[in-house]
Amino acid sequence: MAFVYSDELSKYELSTEHPLRPIRLHHTKELIKACRLFDQPHVSQLKPRVASRKEIETSHDSEYVSCVSAISNGAIAPRMVEFGLGTPDNPARAGIFETTALCVGSTLTASELVTSGGADIAFAPAGGVHHHAMPRSAAGFGVFNDAVIAMKAMVKAGLKVAYVDIDCHHGDGVQVGYYDSDQVLTISIHESGKWLFPGSGFVEETGTGDGMGYSVNVPLAPYTKDEEWHRVFDEVVPPLVRAFSPDVLFTQLGIDTHFQDPLTHLSLTTQGFNLAVKKLGFLGSEIGKWVAVGGGGYDLSAVARAWTMAFATMIKVELPNSVPPEFNNLNIGAFADIPPPTTEDKYLQEIRKHNDQTLNQIRSFVLPKFNV
Ligand SMILES: [Zn+2]
Repeated sequence: MAFVYSDELSKYELSTEHPLRPIRLHHTKELIKACRLFDQPHVSQLKPRVASRKEIETSHDSEYVSCVSAISNGAIAPRMVEFGLGTPDNPARAGIFETTALCVGSTLTASELVTSGGADIAFAPAGGVHHHAMPRSAAGFGVFNDAVIAMKAMVKAGLKVAYVDIDCHHGDGVQVGYYDSDQVLTISIHESGKWLFPGSGFVEETGTGDGMGYSVNVPLAPYTKDEEWHRVFDEVVPPLVRAFSPDVLFTQLGIDTHFQDPLTHLSLTTQGFNLAVKKLGFLGSEIGKWVAVGGGGYDLSAVARAWTMAFATMIKVELPNSVPPEFNNLNIGAFADIPPPTTEDKYLQEIRKHNDQTLNQIRSFVLPKFNV
């Protein structure tokens, strides 16, 4: 198993008030280190390489890439609004091209290692957060879509990829990247677009042309908790991935589903998240190749704990519940959460009713395509 990271990835801030705080990656690495997980056998740490402009342009329009490059060099780019830049979500900042190219490079380093057989699992926590980036525009904190770019190289090498996105937001940029392809099965399980950015990711979005049926969306009701989230996940994700029979599993492990996340409304705990990683790990070990990237996550404690737990799951080490005392960055005592307060029955019924509707739609026109 390989961990792909460098502290350069933690230094770049989009703005001082921006909710995406790259320091979360540094905290994660420090917590993994304090737990001595890097000392375990068969664990390696790799520095990311930088993605080239040519690689970025496999998935992004060159005019847009030029605009990002100009802004990065400090130029005023009059067309930046057309390209989704210069907004509160995606501020125009010097250095943005280089930082994003390194982030994309971390995902490429992980995916190349796994596809070449150098590791069975690679985890690049800086990746995944660009899952809203579109071919011709930045969106939702994303600039260059690292997952789309990395999978492009795998598809070119003749590999079939199952992409599973458990971020609280719909992975719309990745869906767009492979909407007409039957080589990449995209599955996104997220808070419904009725209530949350980017406002898409409904069951009816199933793909076009050759890709018809290969785009799967699982929109959930706000305040869905661990048990309910897993009830839906279990019925959809493992059976579809197995039926698709991919060569590689690619997972986006956003932890903005956490009940303390300031931007979203799902109510998972760190242990609920980690159970999902365990289930993805079973699929990954069946397939034999598993690339994992990070994603959203705006509560610093939840991010550091959840991704450390995910790392331990990947190397099959049982963590004690208490956080080592030498990790004193975030005043964290334990890995597992005390679950959020009980939801009133009437709301639980509403949540279940919404999620049942999602499942019924998936049973009628998504699962049959795969004979599930
Ligand atoms: Zn998100």
